[in-house]
Amino acid sequence: MAALHTDRAVAVIGSGAMGAGIAQVAAVAGYTVKLFDTRPEAVAKAMSDIAAALNKLVARERMSAVDCAAAIARVRAALTLNDIAGSALVVEAIVENLDVKRGLFAELEAIVADDCILATNTSSISVTAIAAKLRVPARLVGMHFFNPVPLMALVEVISGLATDAAVAQTVYDTAAAWGKQPVHAKSTPGFIVNRVARPFYAEGWRLLNERAADAATIDAVMRDCGGFRMGPFELMDLIGHDVNFSVTQSVFGAYFNDPRFTPSVLQQEMVNAGFLGRKSGRGFYHYG
Ligand code: NAD
Repeated sequence: MAALHTDRAVAVIGSGAMGAGIAQVAAVAGYTVKLFDTRPEAVAKAMSDIAAALNKLVARERMSAVDCAAAIARVRAALTLNDIAGSALVVEAIVENLDVKRGLFAELEAIVADDCILATNTSSISVTAIAAKLRVPARLVGMHFFNPVPLMALVEVISGLATDAAVAQTVYDTAAAWGKQPVHAKSTPGFIVNRVARPFYAEGWRLLNERAADAATIDAVMRDCGGFRMGPFELMDLIGHDVNFSVTQSVFGAYFNDPRFTPSVLQQEMVNAGFLGRKSGRGFYHYG
C-alpha cells in the first residue's frame, strides 16, 4: 500500500475550522486541494486563514517563502460540487449530522470517479451508517483529524463494517505522508479519543451544575495543576459547542441512552443562544 500520489487533487467539503486545517495540511504536503462549502464566504475565510497561518510560519523561519507561496497556490476554491470531479480523495468536514452527511455522499458518488476514496471527518457518527446508503460502501472510511489540524498529530482512520481494508490502509499511508500519526480503529461511537474524552466534558458540566466552582476555576485547575493542555470549558470553546453538543447526543444515542453520556441542558442553551465558542466570538469566554 502507499499514500495517494500528488498528481491528483484532494477535495475538502466543508470549510470551517476542520476543513480549513485539513486543506492546509494537504496543500503543504504537495496536493492540489479543492475546497467547497455551501457558504462561499466560508471558503474565502478558510483560504485567507490558510494564507495567514502559512505566512506566520515564514515569519518564524519555519517555512520558506517559496514553499509558502506554492502551498497557498495549491488551495483552490470549488464553486460547485462538480468542480471536485477527478479528485483521488474527498474529505468531508461538514455539520455533524448523519442525514446531512449521507445526502452529501450520495451527491458525491454521482460526481467522483469509481476509484475516488470518500472519507468522513465525523467525530462520532457510525462510519458504517454513513456508508450504508452508498452504491459502493467499501470506499468510505473515517479520516478523523483533531483541532487545530495543523498542530495535532493524531488521525484516527476508522473502518466501518463494509470499509475495504485497502482503502483504510491508503488513507492511513496518506495521513502519514501528510506528517500525521495515524491509528487504525473500528467504527464505535466516538471512536477512541472522543469516547475517552466524554467524561472529561460530562464531569465538567456536572461540577458546574453542582456549583463546585466556576468554569474558569475548573479550567485553571485542570490546565495549570492537572497536567491537561486545556480545561474542559476552554476546550469546548475551541471545538465549538454546536459540534460538541452534537457529538454528545450522537454518543448518548448510540449507547442506547446510557446516562453516563447524557448531554448537558446548559450546553444546549449555549447552542440555542449562538454562544458557540471561539468561532462565534463568545462561549464560556469572549474572543476578540
Ligand atoms: P464548522 O461549523 O466550523 O464548519 C462546518 C462547515 O460545513 C461550515 O462552514 C458549513 O457552512 C459547512 N457545511 C454544512 N453543511 C454543508 C454541506 N451540506 N455541504 C457543504 N458544506 C456544508 O465545523 P467543524 O468544527 O469544522 O466540524 C466539521 C466536522 O468535523 C464535523 O463532523 C465535526 O464533528 C468534525 N470534527 C470537529 C472537530 C472540532 O474540534 N471542531 C474535531 C474533529 C472532527
